[in-house]
Amino acid sequence: MKETILVVEDEASIRNITRVYLEQEQYRVICTDNGQEALTMARRHKPDLIVLDLNLPGMDGMEVTARLRQESDVYILILTARTEEADRIAGLRIGADDYLTKPFSPHELVARVQAILRRNRTTSAHISVAGNVLRFPHLEIDPDRHEVRTGDQVIDLTTTEFSVLQELARHAGRVLTREQLIDRVWGQDFYGTDRVVDVYVGQVRRKLEQATGETLIQTVRGIGYKFVDEK
Ligand code: CA
Repeated sequence: MKETILVVEDEASIRNITRVYLEQEQYRVICTDNGQEALTMARRHKPDLIVLDLNLPGMDGMEVTARLRQESDVYILILTARTEEADRIAGLRIGADDYLTKPFSPHELVARVQAILRRNRTTSAHISVAGNVLRFPHLEIDPDRHEVRTGDQVIDLTTTEFSVLQELARHAGRVLTREQLIDRVWGQDFYGTDRVVDVYVGQVRRKLEQATGETLIQTVRGIGYKFVDEK
């Protein structure tokens, strides 16, 4: 058996088809139709990933996400109706990893689940055993020496640029919102608007592009940024 996936969806037809398709891929699937039980099951079964409908009766998916994030780093794929763009963005802000808009094809759902779980594996594989160094196909980031290299070449970054890159790279493949970057890079010392973040990210992206010839930082429109360095 592969990873365990918890499916939280009150519509029986969607829940069942999701289960069938995931089981075909050999995942162990557990299901519930409500948020309260989802929290209990998450604690008991420690799933690797949760497929979570936002629109649930009682405790909704947004609250479930927020509560889960207080206690675990489990991957969360949220399901949302097309009209709920604000919800979708809010869901990613409070810690969901990806979203899928209804109606979706079961194949698309399986593909997303596989991508998230694969991302998990590759990201951990890139973290060097020898120390804190983050190793990617094109970049090596050494927090102790405050140094970024591509091959033998050191890429010259300012202290803040380095922190921005380090934060994005530690969450490789996952979207970080501007607010999250502000919190983690500047903390209490931040003055100004979100635009400041865009400027810093833009500078880092350009320097990485010049040195590696690759676009390693992607913009996720309306939400934030993501670091992707794959072969
Ligand atoms: Ca629903």
